[in-house]
This record gives sequence, C-alpha cells and structure tokens, in this order.
Amino acid sequence: MDLSGKTVLITGASRGIGAASAREFAKAGANVALVARSADATAELAGEIGPKAVAIPCDISRYWEMEQAVKNCLTAFGRLDIVVNNAGVIEPISHLATANPDDWGSVIDINLKGVFHGMRAALPVMLDQGAGTILTIGSGAAHGPVEAWSHYCASKAGALMLTRMADKENRDKGIRALSLSPGTVATRMQEEIKGSGINPVSQLDWSSHIPPDWPAKALVWMCGPEADEWLGAEISLRDEDIRRKVGLA
Ligand code: NAP
Repeated sequence: MDLSGKTVLITGASRGIGAASAREFAKAGANVALVARSADATAELAGEIGPKAVAIPCDISRYWEMEQAVKNCLTAFGRLDIVVNNAGVIEPISHLATANPDDWGSVIDINLKGVFHGMRAALPVMLDQGAGTILTIGSGAAHGPVEAWSHYCASKAGALMLTRMADKENRDKGIRALSLSPGTVATRMQEEIKGSGINPVSQLDWSSHIPPDWPAKALVWMCGPEADEWLGAEISLRDEDIRRKVGLA
C-alpha cells in the first residue's frame, strides 16, 4: 500500500496498537500525527519516525482538545486523509454492583465519546476534501457481555454504532468508515486484564495474544479498496481469510 502524500491521525499512539500503527503507516509513506496524553512517549516515537511524524499531546475525552489536535495536524501537514480512533482503556475493571460511577463514566468518556470526538473533529475536514477514511478499533466485547467489563462492553458496542452512523450519513460523500476487531493483542491493556484475574480473558496464556503490528498492518490494508466490502461494518482479525488478505497468514 502506498500512502505517500496522505496524512493519518492516530489516537492512543503512545504505545501498543497505536504506536505500532504509527510505524506501519509511516512505512507506507504517510505523514503521521501521534495523539495521546503521554507527551514524552509520543515525542520519542515522532523522533524515531522522523520528519513525517508530529506528536500532539491531547486527551481525547475533551472535545476541545481533539478539535485542536485536528487543527495542529492540518497546520503540520495541510490535510487529513485517515483517522484511526484507537485510544481506549479498560481500567477500572469492576462488577456493575460495585463500580464507582465516576470511574465507570470516565471509560465511556474515552472509549465512546472519544471516538465521537475523533469523528466530529475530522468529518468537516474530510467532507470538504470530498474523501476520508475513519477507522475505529472495536472489540469482541461489543457483541457479548464479559464479567466485570460493563463499561468496556457498553463503550465498544456504542463505538461500533458510531462507525455504522458515520457510514450511513457520509458514504455517499466519499467517507469510508470501518471498524477493526483485533482479537487479543499483547499490549499493556492485556497486562491489566491479566492482573485483574477476574474473567476468562484474564486467564489466557500470553502466547495466545497477537503482536501489535498485526492490527497495525490490518489498519493500513483497510485504507485500500479491497476493504470496501466492509464499509460501515467490522472486520475481525480472528478471521483467517482476513489475515491472508492482510498478508499475515
Ligand atoms: P494500550 O497499550 O493500553 O494503549 C492505549 C492507548 O490509548 C495509549 O496510547 C494511551 O495513551 C491511549 N489513551 C488512553 N486514554 C486516552 C485519552 N484520554 N486520550 C488520549 N489517548 C488515550 O492498549 P492497546 O491494547 O494498544 O489498545 C488500543 C485499542 O485497542 C483500544 O481501543 C482497545 O480497547 C483496543 N483493543 C485492544 C485489545 C487487546 O487485546 N489489547 C483487544 C481489542 C481491542 P496515554 O495513556 O498516553 O494517553
């Protein structure tokens, strides 16, 4: 995939799937805007990638910060072709009956409202350009309950609906919106899940998780026409056929 001349903004680019995606998109020739709260980590990654990368400190749960991040991306590169709504959290893992309501809500602010903020800030720019791709990291948790993950399951189900909405309202205006469900990935989030010891996901052997560069490669592939049959829908990286198409099998 040649993404030379294209600009991608990636949320949650300070580590894990987001950092791997930044490296993969840069390898494909794209300019990358690295968005996360950890300014040091994104600055270090931008330094590693070189002049095609810019670090933008931002808390995606605050709309005005997300809006400013898009403006900073436009200042740096002049356009915005792809947004990867990747930032997400799983802590605090807790049962519905005992969850702290404020903490529960803060996960919705990041995982659900953060995705809306990314779409809301990017869509006017993309609609002006007449084209754009919005990729959102989904999860199997969108489709079924997982013990002590009510915040996470609800947020991922809502985020999938936002992808369907972005597609419904904007496909005929040149906008491609898709979701990627990666399966389990060896990142800090899985370390936190393991540490909780609560549900079957926490019991998985570490070797069963895929490396973060697998979803990163899938995200780059999703920018091409081969993924168009999934517009407005979710692609699962557990699917062997998808892995083959992405070049992972
Ligand atoms: P991770 O290593 O914990 O990374 C999470 C990223 O999100 C970090 O870069 C973090 O950066 C960023 N982030 C969190 N809150 C933020 C905020 N308010 N504003 C801006 N950035 C924020 O986890 P990961 O596994 O790579 O997760 C990435 C995505 O994949 C998430 O949406 C997750 O739900 C999804 N996912 C992961 C798995 C898995 O098995 N790992 C499976 C399915 C889906 P800062 O802390 O620096 O802000």
